[in-house]
Amino acid sequence: MKKGTSFGAPCLLENVLAEMVISAVPSIEMVRFVNSGTEACMGVLRLARAYTGRSKIIKFEGCYHGHADPYLVKAGSGVATLGLPDSPGVPRAATIDTLTAAYNDISAVEELFKSHKGEIAGVILEPVVGNSGFITPKLEFLEFLRKITKENDALLIFDEVMTGFRLAYGGAQEYFGITPDLTTLGKIIGGGLPVGAYGGRRDIMEMVAPAGPMYQAGTLSGNPLAMTAGIHTLQRLKEPGSYEYLNRITGDLIQGILEAGNKAGHAMCGGYISGMFGFFFTEGPVHNFADAKKSDTAKFGRFFRGLLEEGVYLAPSQFEAGFTSLAHSLQDIQQTVAAAERVFQRI
Ligand SMILES: *Cc1c(COP(=O)(O)O)cnc(C)c1O
Repeated sequence: MKKGTSFGAPCLLENVLAEMVISAVPSIEMVRFVNSGTEACMGVLRLARAYTGRSKIIKFEGCYHGHADPYLVKAGSGVATLGLPDSPGVPRAATIDTLTAAYNDISAVEELFKSHKGEIAGVILEPVVGNSGFITPKLEFLEFLRKITKENDALLIFDEVMTGFRLAYGGAQEYFGITPDLTTLGKIIGGGLPVGAYGGRRDIMEMVAPAGPMYQAGTLSGNPLAMTAGIHTLQRLKEPGSYEYLNRITGDLIQGILEAGNKAGHAMCGGYISGMFGFFFTEGPVHNFADAKKSDTAKFGRFFRGLLEEGVYLAPSQFEAGFTSLAHSLQDIQQTVAAAERVFQRI
């Protein structure tokens, strides 16, 4: 901060964080920093369209890719909580090229590629969904998306704004062993300051200005303050044992919550990977947004407020995933499970 918080120009720290991201994330050979996940997803969409010369994009119901107009179709997160199928202020023209399918639904995606042959620029998804609650992908679904995009000269885009550096140091793509063409990042790589990034194959990224003709820029992008926070966060995560610790405490937490809930007679399901978890008040299994909506959200509300009274602040929506952090101690986890046990008795 003493040296300045922003210069409206590239700085060396941007290169340092870029090298860390490139060496960590399998799909990323070049990266562009922006200021939020929303901005990253906007940029990556323009890039996919510029590279392929096509307009249409496939997204999945309940997946959230920031608040840019073309993505506000069947989006999760706050949009899901408020029950908005769309948002006022989004013109029809902005979403006309957005095609949607149910998550984990192979045949729906096959249909879209058939009925829009040669028109689809790319497929974007949360490789583990966090914005309609915590929903894991079937491995064959990810493998299928990799295959069908390749066969149709379309791009596979992993929105790892949430999963990046959270499921593993190399994100969901490292965890599942599926490498997309393009990736978006945010959240963790800013260490709590506003950051986003998009990156991927060199031949695609070279389309981005100033190397190529696709315009995208930002005054505050890659500012030294955010880059420093990101560098320190990644250094901490890279220390041996970080992800093992996250996996351990998250497993303890979610197993504790599910056991306590079931013992108190509540129908529940849930899961976790590394530092990401979630649960629903329904028997499950939950494979997509329609399944997630079967959860008893009124009960979630009572559970949320009950925990708040106990001093535990969960994400305030059934349709948000939970995260653990290296700052959480084993004692924090035990106290949270004990609080959940008490709350389950009275909801
Ligand atoms: C949070 C999130 C975004 C949007 O990022 P912001 O920084 O809030 O604009 C995009 N995609 C996913 C998967 C997210 O979780």
